Amino acid sequence: EPAVEPRPIKRLSETLINRIAAGEIIHRPASALKELLENSLDAGSTSIKVIVKDGGLKLLQIQDNGHGIRKSDLPILAERFTTSKLSTFSDLSRIATYGFRGEALASISHVARLSVTTKTKKDGHAWKATYSDGLLVPAKAGQSADPKPSAGNDGTIITIEDLFFNTPTRLSALRSSSEEYARILDVMTKYAIHNSKVAFQCKKAGSGSPELTTPANSTIPQAIKLLYGHTIANELIHVNVTSLGATDTDESMDVDDEEEEESWKAEVYFTNANYQAKKTNFLLFINHRLVDSPRMKRAVEAVYTSILPKGASPFVYLSLEVDPKNVDVNVHPTKKEVHFLNEDAITDKICSTMQVTLANQATSRTFETQT
Ligand code: ADP
Ligand code: MG
Repeated sequence: EPAVEPRPIKRLSETLINRIAAGEIIHRPASALKELLENSLDAGSTSIKVIVKDGGLKLLQIQDNGHGIRKSDLPILAERFTTSKLSTFSDLSRIATYGFRGEALASISHVARLSVTTKTKKDGHAWKATYSDGLLVPAKAGQSADPKPSAGNDGTIITIEDLFFNTPTRLSALRSSSEEYARILDVMTKYAIHNSKVAFQCKKAGSGSPELTTPANSTIPQAIKLLYGHTIANELIHVNVTSLGATDTDESMDVDDEEEEESWKAEVYFTNANYQAKKTNFLLFINHRLVDSPRMKRAVEAVYTSILPKGASPFVYLSLEVDPKNVDVNVHPTKKEVHFLNEDAITDKICSTMQVTLANQATSRTFETQT
């Protein structure tokens, strides 16, 4: 016999539903920043500057020089499921932007104080709007909630204050602001490498010199050298692998075959046997999205088992582009995990190319020292 009586089932309040949903997308300051970086990149920015206070819990501000937001869109900007990037379900199969669900700003507005200053090229001046729980709210008590004219350059400034002020459990789980800042720098570093043409900057509020800064128009190896240092940069090997051939240097394939095959391409920068780290540093971008794939990481590590001594690990940057229709980006709330067609075959081909290149390099080195 059940020991207790069943309790009545009640409908959750809208605010509570939204707060719970927000917690699934915004885990910590670094996950908010990832969403904001992606929005700035989606907006075509060439410069992105971030200011952080208390590991992003007190303040997380991102300024970009992208296309800005139209004033008429400001009232619904932070509502759930409002987006400029997706309109039909089939759009999902050719999605070329990072965003598509319109949940990031909404989520942030449910767990923090959010304000937005934005100016499009057509606007004579910027507009500033403040949001709470998905809606425009007055910046100060007694004012109207309507966006206010403001000074500002072309582009957008998103300001997040007091993240998780209304979700105390989440807040207490994130005790160390230095740990949160380290994660913010890690996300920025990875995006700065993948988007090496864009200038990035990240600093603590009030501090003179930024902890991270990259110039515009770098190459990927230049960005790696700047952000990870020359010990890695000096030992990097670069290969391109495609669905058609092992590297893109050989163009003499017959054209008929090319049309038969699905098409994908990968660009890999990976360290040789001279570089030996304690832990693998694996940067994986699938269709420009920073993602996690424990399977691909294991496969890449396996390439090195015959090349590095036990306990030593490589640095690997892998950017894979597959046909958007073969990728399901909608499997995870943070889009951190993606599934794509022929994952095993593609991984095998990339890894065997890496393996051969590493082995060749080792042989030619032995040969050189022998002669
Ligand atoms: P999504 O990126 O999935 O569309 P978001 O909540 O992240 O959803 O953003 C909602 C909308 O706000 C975007 O579709 C875009 O139109 C606009 N937006 C957000 N951030 C920026 C930005 N930095 N620059 C220009 N537009 C932006
Ligand atoms: Mg977005």
